[in-house]
Amino acid sequence: MNRRILVLHTGGTIGMERSSQGYRPMAQFGTTLRQHLATLSGLPDYDFIELAPLIDSANLLPSHWLKIARELRTHWNRYEGFVILHGTDTLAWTASALSFLFQGADRPIILTGSQIPLLEPRSDAPANLGTALMLASSPASRGVTIFFGGTLLQGNRSTKSSSTDFQAFSSPNVPALARAGIHLPSQPPAPEAVPAHNAIIDTLDAHAVMVLTVYPGLSATQINALTETPSLRGLVLCSYGAGNLPDTDPALLEALARIVKRGIVVVNRTQCAHGPVVHGTYATSSTLERIGIVSASDMTLEAAFAKLHILLALHRDPQQVREQFRIALCGEMS
Ligand code: ASP
Repeated sequence: MNRRILVLHTGGTIGMERSSQGYRPMAQFGTTLRQHLATLSGLPDYDFIELAPLIDSANLLPSHWLKIARELRTHWNRYEGFVILHGTDTLAWTASALSFLFQGADRPIILTGSQIPLLEPRSDAPANLGTALMLASSPASRGVTIFFGGTLLQGNRSTKSSSTDFQAFSSPNVPALARAGIHLPSQPPAPEAVPAHNAIIDTLDAHAVMVLTVYPGLSATQINALTETPSLRGLVLCSYGAGNLPDTDPALLEALARIVKRGIVVVNRTQCAHGPVVHGTYATSSTLERIGIVSASDMTLEAAFAKLHILLALHRDPQQVREQFRIALCGEMS
């Protein structure tokens, strides 16, 4: 059966060229990509579209997730699979967001990109792109995944873990879905199946969610100054180890309790790449649950951030957001 794939180019190194200011998105990348792929046989048929304007993904805003989602929805019924070309810097953030926007998707949405532009020597783009296209034509690889450096990963469990390796992404709390060697997995495993649910959101406020990393010496005064912005509705706290905060400074916990009372949803995510937050493991985290801070368990920062953004856009009531946050919606936590 001829399964047609849509390639959606959003920007990133894969389609960049050198300029006097460094790499920047090149014009007519679609033509270059077509010429390049035309030399390879055995790839599925595909169409190519671009987001306008193309971005270096370091400039990504939450509103770009909705722009990408709109493109996918517009073309959903005409294609059996989607390959999204994305800059590596925020690729895992977008993969996480799309997993919440397309829960239970019945077809593959595969994000890829490259560390070296397609037209540069030693580029990893041809391997990433060619294999992503082939995987996207397999109905078995439904759901949001990342294919990069020979590895297929669950989108909402992944993080960029190297700025230089060709294998730039990893999923620290779950094994890779598949590895592509000489042979491609004929039935690549897909992320956990969940009931289909499209979260249709019109806007995401870039100022609604903030990330705050705990560090030695963090004070209540600093927390208050950083969180006083009226548009703030959610906070991802990146704590130590199993979810610990200093507990010898009562003002610090009071500042956090005040934020929760203001109606801001505070979630607690560990700074460790591997392992979950477990409130109450140490005395230093036992009060957090009591003051209304929710554990992000073993979610990546990217998944916790995207989940909070999307839940806040769907629900006005902070309590409802907290309840939904605790539930694994699409395999984003163990
Ligand atoms: N800054 C680039 C981007 O994220 C890096 C890359 O694509 O690898 O768009």
